[in-house]
Amino acid sequence: MPATVVISPRGEQRLQGGHPWIYRSDIIDAAAAGGDRVLVRSRRGQTLGHGLYSDRSLIALRMLTDGEQEPDDRLIERRIHDAIAFRESLGIDATAYRLVHGESDRLPSLIVDRYGDYLVVQALSQGMDRLTPVVVRVLQERLSPRGILARNDPRTRTLDGLPQIVEVLAGDIPDLVQVHELQVEYEVDLRHGQKTGLFLDQRDNRAAASLYAHGRMLDCFSYNGGFALTMGRRCSAVIAFDASADAVARITLNAARNGVAVDARVGNVFDELRALERVGERFDTIVLDPPAFAKSKSAVEKASSGYKEINLRALKLLNPGGILVTCSCSYNISEAAFGEIVYEASVDAGVHVTIVEKRMQGRDHPVLLGVPETYYLKCLLLRKLP
Ligand code: SAH
Repeated sequence: MPATVVISPRGEQRLQGGHPWIYRSDIIDAAAAGGDRVLVRSRRGQTLGHGLYSDRSLIALRMLTDGEQEPDDRLIERRIHDAIAFRESLGIDATAYRLVHGESDRLPSLIVDRYGDYLVVQALSQGMDRLTPVVVRVLQERLSPRGILARNDPRTRTLDGLPQIVEVLAGDIPDLVQVHELQVEYEVDLRHGQKTGLFLDQRDNRAAASLYAHGRMLDCFSYNGGFALTMGRRCSAVIAFDASADAVARITLNAARNGVAVDARVGNVFDELRALERVGERFDTIVLDPPAFAKSKSAVEKASSGYKEINLRALKLLNPGGILVTCSCSYNISEAAFGEIVYEASVDAGVHVTIVEKRMQGRDHPVLLGVPETYYLKCLLLRKLP
């Protein structure tokens, strides 16, 4: 008898809608241990599919298959191969990009990012944690990387009772890895950088935004300079702000490496935007790429006022005809809600603004229809009308 989990009619409905998560409140009976690949049944004894079971997280089940198909190691292998082949078909102008994007590749809670000859893996559930040896074997056979690093330090792992650890799973990982994205070269610290090292999800937006970059540029929440370095070549001057001194040091190094002049400063963007306004500064191109202000539903209200504040200040600092690239990576704030926030900011700033492009996370981070959690990054390219 395989490990089996019985779910409620409400859980069944979710599965029918294509959502791969079943919450603990919809588990009726679980004859399974945390991390097991389990058979999922309805109360009437019907086979609904197979999934990864967690005995800790509120997300008790992450589905792998519908119906009778069993998720053996070969299925995991086929899905990884498919995910990689899709990324290779995209003609991405970069040596760093996402190979596996969790639920969107039907490999729930698994992230694999490529940084040149090195791979970074995140296994964010008990079930995927246990599958890691299979994942590592498949990646080695398919890609022969020089090293594979587990960046298993996201806090979400603790919700599954898993330790937060960073460890080399295969080969070696140097302190710094060189990659390029578009025309920019980066040195990336895979062990300590944010996310898995770079914000790979913004690559396509950096490329799109570059087409409008001009004049004096301000890059807010710059991290190690992704937008500043890509767009800065087309601008007469670039100022970049980030709260992290480490990130700012890296912007400066990357700027020198790429021959782009960036005035990188440590600062809190909320304070700095006000200070720039006070001294009458003006810009032609502004980027706002803040961290997720709304990490939970309860944080949405406060987050919305944060987003509104920075957008309002940026619109005031922008010259007529200027471009604002404004982003939100909070999946708790929908595209419509974000649009509304930016609209309200424009009204308060007393300016007329057009949407030139509506964008999202890059093509290597696709959204799974019916699973709003996979659509997290919104990016609007706006123009302030003269
Ligand atoms: N634009 C970057 C990614 C930004 S991630 C890129 O393209 O790669 C968000 C960044 O905001 C992080 O580097 C974090 O250090 C910084 N940050 C968070 N709160 C901040 C604040 N109040 N002021 C300035 N920077 C902040």
